[in-house]
Amino acid sequence: MTVNRALFDEVMVPNYNPSEVIPVRGKGARVWDQEGREFIDFAGGIAVNCLGHCHPALVAALKEQGEKIWHLSNIWTNEPALRLAKKMTDATFAEQVYFANSGAEANEAALKLARRWALENFGAQKSKIIAFNKGFHGRTFFTVTVGGQAAYSDGFGPKPGDIVHCDYNDLETFKSLIDDNTCAVMMEPLQGEGGIIAPEADFVKGVRELCDKHNALLIFDEVQTGVGRTGELYAYQGLGVTPDIMSSAKALGGGFPIGAMLTTKEIAKHLKPGTHGSTYGGNPLACAVAEAAFDTINDRAVLDGVKEKEALFKQLLNDINAKYDVFSEVRGQGLLIGAVVNDKFKGRAREFLVASMEQGLMSLVAGADVVRFTPSLVISEEDIREGMARFEKAVASLV
Ligand SMILES: *Cc1c(COP(=O)(O)O)cnc(C)c1O
Repeated sequence: MTVNRALFDEVMVPNYNPSEVIPVRGKGARVWDQEGREFIDFAGGIAVNCLGHCHPALVAALKEQGEKIWHLSNIWTNEPALRLAKKMTDATFAEQVYFANSGAEANEAALKLARRWALENFGAQKSKIIAFNKGFHGRTFFTVTVGGQAAYSDGFGPKPGDIVHCDYNDLETFKSLIDDNTCAVMMEPLQGEGGIIAPEADFVKGVRELCDKHNALLIFDEVQTGVGRTGELYAYQGLGVTPDIMSSAKALGGGFPIGAMLTTKEIAKHLKPGTHGSTYGGNPLACAVAEAAFDTINDRAVLDGVKEKEALFKQLLNDINAKYDVFSEVRGQGLLIGAVVNDKFKGRAREFLVASMEQGLMSLVAGADVVRFTPSLVISEEDIREGMARFEKAVASLV
């Protein structure tokens, strides 16, 4: 059997259009393809591989748990899930955790919980959900409708109702939308897919105050920002604003699929037995790997390291820009970094990704105008410098 990119078009549903390159092996921040070509990985599986590829702590946890027990279903609980939940609640505002298998599932649980909480506390009229344009919360029908790009939710029939959108950082409009019938506000504490857009401090504080005033739950989607990505364990900890519900996924499993929805006991109690669930959610194998990832990242030295690497990344990107003048701004927090292409390259961020692959570098985009970098949180300075040297060659090939 010839296993190549052409086979994808034959046997895979065409909802993706992957690169011609098929990676077969990874170690740390480096990846090798079928031909043995080496790449530096600044994509990190879209902010997932927080410890790079095949980190020894994760491999050890996977092997150890893989020889004990993989799956039980939620008829039985298990030690890795209980330990991980204890560690996550000790490290955050949250008191209780629901485990899922992805970011979308964690957000779906958060939204269903918010609706149930509002129904039981205030009545059926309190169902409005406010979210933000350019926001991204996953691809289930509820989460994609809450997401701020109608193009992703159009064309699938009637949508879940009573969801409205507002521009991010527009507190005035937000104020005009929120009322006593608002059950929840869902936002990313730094918009990832939408283009690496940070919230203004007054905006987040204002949103929190208005949620309190109208008895609405504030849900932070920390699927992309969580588990060290911004240089804090969770981004809310750097904002001085605490949500009522938070979701986590991507980096949580370091590459093994897992999601989590975290909240307080007072809110969590509305998801009584039978109200929600998942066959795989919280399975021992996923939780054991996530526990190892969480233990490794939840360390001040590692988190401070992310901030140091951020400074180096931004400095090298600004150096490249000083030579070639291709970006209007380099922004982001921690190792969630966006380089916004300037007018000469408007709508063409993807060309940087393609040119980078030719130079042996994996990168990402966030929309049509932002080149995005979400590498391993423990990437070495040497790998950052080598990756940026390759990126410079890619930029040089485009100008
Ligand atoms: C990636 C992402 C999701 C969706 O996560 P999946 O695991 O793909 O379902 C949700 N919210 C944010 C902010 C994300 O970045």
